[in-house]
Amino acid sequence: MTRYLLLVILLIGCQNDRLYKETRVAMGTFVEITSAHKEAADIAFKEIKRVEALLSKYDPESEVSRLNRSGTLEASPETFFLVKRSKEFWQASGGAFDITVAPLVDLWGFTDKKYKVPAKEAIENTLKLVGSDKIILREEGNIITFKAAGMKVDLGAIAKGYALDRAKEKLKQAGINSCLLNAGGQISAMGNKFGRPWKIAVRAPRANKPAAYLELKDGSVSTSGDYEQFFLKDNARYAHIIDPKTGYPADSGIISVTVSAADGLTADALSTAIFISGREKGAELIRGFPGAEIKIVN
Ligand code: AMP
Ligand code: MG
Repeated sequence: MTRYLLLVILLIGCQNDRLYKETRVAMGTFVEITSAHKEAADIAFKEIKRVEALLSKYDPESEVSRLNRSGTLEASPETFFLVKRSKEFWQASGGAFDITVAPLVDLWGFTDKKYKVPAKEAIENTLKLVGSDKIILREEGNIITFKAAGMKVDLGAIAKGYALDRAKEKLKQAGINSCLLNAGGQISAMGNKFGRPWKIAVRAPRANKPAAYLELKDGSVSTSGDYEQFFLKDNARYAHIIDPKTGYPADSGIISVTVSAADGLTADALSTAIFISGREKGAELIRGFPGAEIKIVN
C-alpha cells in the first residue's frame, strides 16, 4: 500500500515537472516560451504579436510607421507611453539612447539589410533629423509630433523588453506564475522553475569564449552587442547600434553588455544605452535605476 502511494506521488511529481517549450518568430527574432503550463505559449505569443503590430517599423500599418510617414500621430496610450519613456532614457543617458536615430539606421542600410558606409556629408545631413528634443509630446490626446520634416523613430531598442513585460502581465492574468520568455537578446522570467531559479545562458560575443550562465527569478535580462547585426568593410566592423552624437556605429569599446532589471523595458533600454556610452558612463547611468545591474561586460 505504502509502495503504491509512493509510486502515485512520484508519478504526480513527474507530471508536474514537465516543461513545455515553444519557439516562434516574432519581432524579427526567434522567441522561445518555456513553462509548465501548456497554454502559456499561446497567451504570450498573442500579446507579443499585438505589441509588434503597434511598434514594428517593418509593418506599414503600425502606429510607429504611421507616425514616421506623417510626422504626427494621435497615438494609443501604449505607444505614447513608450515614446515618452524613450525620451526619458534619452535624457538620463545624456543623449546616447535616442529613438530618433531611425534615419541613420536606414542610411547605414540596417533597415533593408543593404549595408553600406555612407558618405560623410550624408551622415552630417541626416544628423540634423536626430535628437529626441525634437519630439513634441502632448499628453492630452496622446499626440506625438516631430519638429522637423523627415524625422523618424525606431523603437527596436526597447520594444522587445516591453513586449515581454506585457506578455508576463497577460500570463499573470491567466493565473500562470511560472514562465521563461526569451526573445533574442531579451530574457524575462516569471516566478521560478520548480522552486529553483531559471538558469539562462548568455551568448559569448566572440565564438572562442564559452557562454556565461545567469540565474533569474522574476526579473529581466537584456544583452546588447555588436554581433547581432553588423557588417564588415575593409576590416572594420559596423554594428547596428548608432551613436547619435557622431552618426556612426557606437564605438565605446564594449562588444557586449548584459543588464538585469525588474522589468524588461528598463533592462532593454539600459543595455542599449550602456553599449553606446561605455563602461564608465554606463556604470554612472545605471545608478539612477535602483534594482538594475550590469551583469556582464565584454
Ligand atoms: P538592442 O538590441 O535592444 O540594443 O537595440 C538595437 C536597435 O535599436 C537597433 O537595431 C536600432 O533599431 C535601434 N538603435 C540603434 N541605435 C540606437 C540608439 N542610439 N538609441 C536607441 N535605439 C537605437
Ligand atoms: Mg535594447
